[in-house]
Amino acid sequence: MIPVFKPLIEQEELDASRESLEMGWLGMGSYVSEFEQKVKQIIGAEDRFVAAVSTGTAGLHIALLVAGVGPGDEVIVSSFNCSADFQAIGWVGADMVFCDCDDTTLEIDLRRAEELVTPRTKAMIVMDYDCIMCDHDAIAAFAEKHQIRIIHDAAHSFGSSYKGKMVGSFSDICVFSHDPVKTITCLDGGTIVVRTEEELKHVHELRLLGMQQPASVMYQNKRAWTFDVERVGFRYHMLNLHAAIGLAQLGKLDVIAESRRAASRHYNALLKDLPLVRVPQTDFDGVNPFLYYIRVPEELRDELRAELKENGVDTGIHWMPGHQFSLWKDCRAGDLSVTNKVGKEIISLPLHSKIPLSVVQQVADQIHAFFVRRGA
Ligand SMILES: *Cc1c(COP(=O)(O)O)cnc(C)c1O
Repeated sequence: MIPVFKPLIEQEELDASRESLEMGWLGMGSYVSEFEQKVKQIIGAEDRFVAAVSTGTAGLHIALLVAGVGPGDEVIVSSFNCSADFQAIGWVGADMVFCDCDDTTLEIDLRRAEELVTPRTKAMIVMDYDCIMCDHDAIAAFAEKHQIRIIHDAAHSFGSSYKGKMVGSFSDICVFSHDPVKTITCLDGGTIVVRTEEELKHVHELRLLGMQQPASVMYQNKRAWTFDVERVGFRYHMLNLHAAIGLAQLGKLDVIAESRRAASRHYNALLKDLPLVRVPQTDFDGVNPFLYYIRVPEELRDELRAELKENGVDTGIHWMPGHQFSLWKDCRAGDLSVTNKVGKEIISLPLHSKIPLSVVQQVADQIHAFFVRRGA
């Protein structure tokens, strides 16, 4: 079976794991500091502050708290997003407001978002769906106009750029995920990028039980035994083992991104002429694709997935829309007609780092065969 996701674990990751375990400092330590510095260097965010955390979801939770979002506030988010974002909004006690996405880019539809703003709107989460970036300049103007905070969920776009600027270098607050299936994995992990030293201090307290324990001490594989606690905090720090694996992955970011771009371009070239298939509208320049997705008529989607599975090709659905889940069905929402349609049409095809182009060809051939048999 060709899986949808397949992590790239090679000798470098195995060596890094061993070294970090042999070091004997298993918690947050020197590797975490190195990982943060390397991320900061890669995204070119000299004027920003980077903190590693345990997961992308923890990063979103912390980001909302740092943005001052709490009970009574509203947060606008596209219903076409990951459950992590919806849960994080619930954790801070805010009210979620579901917005539609754009039919071509699949990013949050800012004209629709405009209709949802109220005096209670405190923040908006925007997420780069895979290989097409949000219109971040328009988003910054939107935030300025309505005086709201923006949390940029960049779980899909680590190593991608927007108008020549690396993702992570320009947002209000940016959050990356390094979970098992993301382009750069730490096994589990996340990174938050904030604008001020004060926000960084807040992030540090939130990620480690509120302890005002200087990160600079922990980064020498030591800890302070006396410190104050002034704020609520969580156990959201990154472990040395995870950071060591992340560092090994960051060392091959260019290879990872190049192979994923080549595979995505190959898929686009092989599938774009099928009349019933919609491929991503991009040439993949400057992006590190996380998913490769297509859209097909909703009445054929499940049949196509079943047939691919029978022929050894696994596929995924990213995502079922948020407002369709029981927990969130009563949240305030605008018109969600595009999201409803996309949720029934979308399919994720296998995309891995270093996936052979012959595998992409094999998947594309199966899709061609499916539509040819239907005379399409
Ligand atoms: C993966 C993902 C997350 C959550 O990150 P974790 O590291 O798995 O907690 C959040 N948002 C999006 C869009 C994701 O794809």
